[in-house]
Amino acid sequence: MLNEKMYALGNKRSIIREIFEYCKSRAGEIGPDKVFDFSIGNPSVEPPKEISEAIIDLINNENSVLLHGYTSAQGDLGVRQAIANEINEKFGAGVNENSIYMTCGAAASLTISLRALLNEGDECVVFAPFFTEYRVFVENAGGKLVVSTPMEKTFQIDVSDLESKITEKTRAIIMNSPNNPSGVVYNEETIKAVCKVLEKKQKEYGSPIYLIADEPYRELVFDDIKVPYLMNYYDNTIVCYSYSKALSLPGERIGYIAVSPRAQDSQKVYLAVCGAGRSLGYVCAPSLFQQVIKRTIGAKVNVNIYKENRDILYNALTEYGYECVQPDGAFYLFVKALEDDAYKFFEKAKKKEILVVPCDDFGVSGYVRIAYCVDKQRIVNALPAFKALAEEYKK
Ligand code: PLP
Repeated sequence: MLNEKMYALGNKRSIIREIFEYCKSRAGEIGPDKVFDFSIGNPSVEPPKEISEAIIDLINNENSVLLHGYTSAQGDLGVRQAIANEINEKFGAGVNENSIYMTCGAAASLTISLRALLNEGDECVVFAPFFTEYRVFVENAGGKLVVSTPMEKTFQIDVSDLESKITEKTRAIIMNSPNNPSGVVYNEETIKAVCKVLEKKQKEYGSPIYLIADEPYRELVFDDIKVPYLMNYYDNTIVCYSYSKALSLPGERIGYIAVSPRAQDSQKVYLAVCGAGRSLGYVCAPSLFQQVIKRTIGAKVNVNIYKENRDILYNALTEYGYECVQPDGAFYLFVKALEDDAYKFFEKAKKKEILVVPCDDFGVSGYVRIAYCVDKQRIVNALPAFKALAEEYKK
């Protein structure tokens, strides 16, 4: 006998992975330049040059036994100090090395945090549209996923809907901004209103509600947009950060959790994070990349490349008659399907070799996600197919 739940998860890939795999096999049949694959959020911008310089220097000049050895379970002390300093310099958040737990990216940050916070049957509210894996992560931690419906068209948080979804069982909410799949950045006014509701509900039920800030796209914003730092708005905050998108390092699996020093029983929460990391086997994040991160604090990818892609795609698609949410960050365009059923739209787009992701699993039906973290030329080459698709619907 095996665990049927795990078998089911392994047996059925996420829709994004399904489409991505299809694209690879289709590219083998007709050539990669003829398949317009917009399925997966794999960064298309090079990591900053400081990354490879740091790797080379570390390999050439550091003691290799130490460099590739185990670090402390929660991560190397010097690395955690460097990250805490960076957070404090940027946001004045008052964290220290004992607030930081190094992880294998945001997925690990989230699974550890949820495991640390939730007890069997606790509820975790997420805002639609949401990263599909939240359901897997929350349920694996014994929790129940509760979906809050967004404002129409803007896809900002509907604060009164959130309020109606919070019960005495709510232990956490997950906020992801810039958002995957909408590209929306939640504005400060909304965040203040959300925090007010959380404060009120904590008081009403007499137990903490944690705000999990899922922030892999924090650095990927356009046009001077600011992403508010949630710890500065709400004490019971846990930041789940990742360098996957910020530094184009998704395959290296590196990120961290930061527990607000002002969270209720902050050190106890941090120790629960350490315990969850231990129980899940997520101890000692990749040692080489912990050191790379320490040496490259402040390094950035060229966000203008994503912005240029966004502008080309957004401007062309809106001109062809598609209704798109204007993204302020991340690298996704959230587009209303040209018929009610996003899957049927997906199939029609597929016939034109355009591969986008229907968003029903993200908690919003009738929309598709276009991941524009691709070579600019792919977008330019795909435009006539997008145009022909729109015209087909007008007939
Ligand atoms: N959270 C969101 C919103 C994401 O989009 C992703 C990846 O696409 C993750 C978490 C997981 O990121 P990581 O690769 O750092 O585990």
